[in-house]
Amino acid sequence: MDKKRGFTLIELLVVIAIIALLMSILMPALSKVRKQAMAVVCRSRLKQWGVVFSMYTGENDNYFHAREIGNTAGYRRMWPYTYKKLYSDPKMRFCPTAENPKLVTGAFGTWNYTVGSYRPLPDCPMAGEREYDVTTNSVRDGFFTGSYGMNRSVENMQGGATATDPAFWRKVDVKGGATVPVLMDCQYLYYNPSSIGIPPAYNGEYSTPEMHWICIDRHMGFTNICFLDFSARKVGLKELWALKHDRLYNACASGGWTICSFNGDKTACHGAWHDAAAWMDKMPEY
Ligand SMILES: [Zn+2]
Repeated sequence: MDKKRGFTLIELLVVIAIIALLMSILMPALSKVRKQAMAVVCRSRLKQWGVVFSMYTGENDNYFHAREIGNTAGYRRMWPYTYKKLYSDPKMRFCPTAENPKLVTGAFGTWNYTVGSYRPLPDCPMAGEREYDVTTNSVRDGFFTGSYGMNRSVENMQGGATATDPAFWRKVDVKGGATVPVLMDCQYLYYNPSSIGIPPAYNGEYSTPEMHWICIDRHMGFTNICFLDFSARKVGLKELWALKHDRLYNACASGGWTICSFNGDKTACHGAWHDAAAWMDKMPEY
């Protein structure tokens, strides 16, 4: 017997073929598990945002952050600034599926924002922020990024016509808070809830109405939202049209995109979705 005998070429090829077969079977399953895990992490971050909003509004007479309009200094009061003291990890601004600051377009893109001339303000909590700037291709001061966005109707607008706009929530102690979106998967750092209309023609279309910015498929047909009652849950993309975006939004108004806006006619509702957004065909109606 030749004790040095190794594997034959055929034996090696068979082993490699078996491994390749197992990989092809396991990879899709593993990728699905990975996607589900990222959706859970996303939801857990938004739950933590619920705690942040609860702490902040609890100390501010139930009001969300103030945002002066018609006043450039008001921009330093946007949510990433205002709540900075209550979240230490910049990752809190990101959905785990959209964390690459070099990717700025599409459903998995990130927004970026410069503190710019507001940075020297002594009370600007973002002054110490150093993040990746895609335009200069470098990490620089006073620059921040993220992939969550806020419903602007919860902001406590001060000054201008919006200060008394009946569409704004401003406070947390409202009826039906569990259907009022606050912070969510978004292509920009906010969306305007009065800009709700036709669905996007493809996943990640960045155009108006601003509803397109939040109607993005990051979690296998779902998106994650932190609501006004500080809960966080997954929401079907078509369900976005059934939420209470601002005080005046009526999900059942004619010309809408919910089953009730079609007087309960599911087939007509589905047909309208099919014509406007065929990529969402398999998602259930609400
Ligand atoms: Zn997410």
